[in-house]
Amino acid sequence: MRPALLNPLFAPVTSLSGVGPKQDKLLRYLLGREETPRLVDLLLHMPSQVIDRRARPKIRDASPGTVVTLEVTVGRHRPPPPHNRRAPYLVYASDETGDVVLTYFRNPPGHVEKLLPVGSKRFVSGTLQMYDGLAQIVHPDRVVDESAFAQLSGIDPVYPLTEGLALGSLKRAIAQALAKLPDLPEWISPEVIRRCHFPPLREALSRVHQPIELTDVLPDGPFWTRLAFDELLAGQLALGLIRAQLRRPAGDRHAGDGHLRKKIIDALPYALTASQRQAAAAIADDLKQPVRMLRLLQGDVGSGKTVVALLAAAAVAEAGKQAALMAPTEILARQHIKTIATLAERAGMRVAILTGREKGKERRQLLAQLEAGDFDLVVGTHALIQDDVVFKDLALAVVDEQHRFGVRERLALTAKGEAVDVLVLSATPIPRTLVLTYFGDMDVSELREKPAGRQPIDTRAVPDSRLEEVMDAVGRALSAGKLVYWICALVEESEAEATDHLTNATKRFDSLRQRFGHKVGLVHGQMKGADKDRVMAEFAAQDIGLLVATTVVEVGVDVPAATIMVIENAERFGLAQLHQLRGRIGRGAEASTCLLLYHEPLGEISKARLKVIRETTDGFRIAEEDLKLRGEGDVLGIRQSGLPGYRIARSDVHGQLMTQARDEALRILKDNPKLKGERGEALRCLLYLFERDEAIPLIGAG
Ligand code: ADP
Ligand code: MG
Repeated sequence: MRPALLNPLFAPVTSLSGVGPKQDKLLRYLLGREETPRLVDLLLHMPSQVIDRRARPKIRDASPGTVVTLEVTVGRHRPPPPHNRRAPYLVYASDETGDVVLTYFRNPPGHVEKLLPVGSKRFVSGTLQMYDGLAQIVHPDRVVDESAFAQLSGIDPVYPLTEGLALGSLKRAIAQALAKLPDLPEWISPEVIRRCHFPPLREALSRVHQPIELTDVLPDGPFWTRLAFDELLAGQLALGLIRAQLRRPAGDRHAGDGHLRKKIIDALPYALTASQRQAAAAIADDLKQPVRMLRLLQGDVGSGKTVVALLAAAAVAEAGKQAALMAPTEILARQHIKTIATLAERAGMRVAILTGREKGKERRQLLAQLEAGDFDLVVGTHALIQDDVVFKDLALAVVDEQHRFGVRERLALTAKGEAVDVLVLSATPIPRTLVLTYFGDMDVSELREKPAGRQPIDTRAVPDSRLEEVMDAVGRALSAGKLVYWICALVEESEAEATDHLTNATKRFDSLRQRFGHKVGLVHGQMKGADKDRVMAEFAAQDIGLLVATTVVEVGVDVPAATIMVIENAERFGLAQLHQLRGRIGRGAEASTCLLLYHEPLGEISKARLKVIRETTDGFRIAEEDLKLRGEGDVLGIRQSGLPGYRIARSDVHGQLMTQARDEALRILKDNPKLKGERGEALRCLLYLFERDEAIPLIGAG
């Protein structure tokens, strides 16, 4: 149970004044939450910069291009002429030294009149510009009267926003949330507080959101650092608790005699790579140890993790027990079963699939068989962790693409058996330094070599002004019988992202279809599972040659004959995502080409990303570069998938802090593994605050 003390922070943002259904929607999007965000989410939304509004020159002395706060008397208004709505609304204002024009474009009727009544005194803040020899401020950031001005700080934090959400309304909401912050007990030990000079939580939060000095919002300043430490400590503590739980003695071991594994290996149309053999051997060894297995199998896309997972499942099946493989999407689960089923059946293993699509009688029958032990391996999605799914004797949980699942799901699956061994598959090569952050202390196997016979991928960046040429080239490839992916960033333009040059998949599908006729198919995330599968199958069978897709093909989809990929608006994708996407080609024996279509002008980061992706296909190197270019959450695709990730701590700034948080977590778990007493209470608060409370039920009440 969450300590009642925290309740005010977990109230929905809609309980704040000025936050209605529209803001709710925008805030969900901004904060990456599916449900209505809570006050705590606002408080953990960090500013991205500050604006210094302390400069208060007279109009005559104000320098163009700087942010100034002017004290003015409002003069006449000049609304746009009635038939020219594009013309700006101008307000003339002055002080004793000169005049300034306040300019508003496309403003709701009546707004400016109310904000700047003729003859009133106002404090106006914004960037001063010279236009036609006149001082002007376009859309002043702030317009307030004298009494409101007295309340305002001259230093103004600026937050990441989303279209439609005004900075002012976000700030008003954050200020209200701050005012509701209860007094929380200190969870950091006095030694650490002293050594690191950490300010108390309340001070840290208020100085970041209501800075007094310009440096207050710097990530390496004392206030942000304290909050980052809290977040990291919560993460490390949760992982430690879970690990203590999963690392319990293993009981009955499931090391089989190898007969099924031998049959599978004999049935393979290829030889295992050396690293696949090593990984399989390490797993077989883990399964004999007296503690449970907790192993991460990392391998770049196409490195062949599935067959290693199958061999692990075979090992427990040899011992008469069951295995489950959980994938994050329907497509992936089907893909796995396709790869696995033939091999497994040839070895005499009984496999089944369970996703959201198995329903009614079919599902009931499947569940009954699973409970009776009729299946050795079940492959599925989230559907596997529903309450009514019961195993006869689950001994191994394989979780694919782990970072798409929360720890909660992993625990839910392992809870379906006695002392279940855990194998986590990750296709996003994660730098070693981060494995710890995200997975805790796990054993790691890496599949570093690509299966034999893989061809390199020729990757090129092309500005979208050359779209016609690219279309022509695709046409030639199609006539030559090649299979082509065409990736778009969006399905439909959502309100928040409607920008002219962003191509959506549906639109692109229409235009390509006009050109190439029925050779063209479309898959995207909003389609029904069965429809997606049908189109994918047509593509695999080469009934269609060109597949327009959103990032649903990002993970795991396997059509080895596909050799060309066009990625539109490549500048919009993260490095990890580009790498994952490109991993869909270069899987067969033929050489592949990847064209990154980008929209000019390119920002610095996008330019750097495209360069990295052109230079290398080594996922581990790409992950390292990604880490340098962006925050940790992005490396793992956490922001995109909306899972709770790290919101405050940043790998570029807080690397050192990570080690300290880990040491502190280990010390806590050694001295107080059940989080008892006053300090334990405080630490439980911390875990709830950062949504790392999954493990609390495991240790019981304080
Ligand atoms: P991933 O690691 O991305 O999950 P998969 O397990 O889906 O990769 O394997 C990608 C493809 O490589 C599959 O078609 C699989 O049959 C094939 N494959 C796996 N191991 C080898 C190998 N040692 N030699 C050749 N092909 C292999
Ligand atoms: Mg895979």
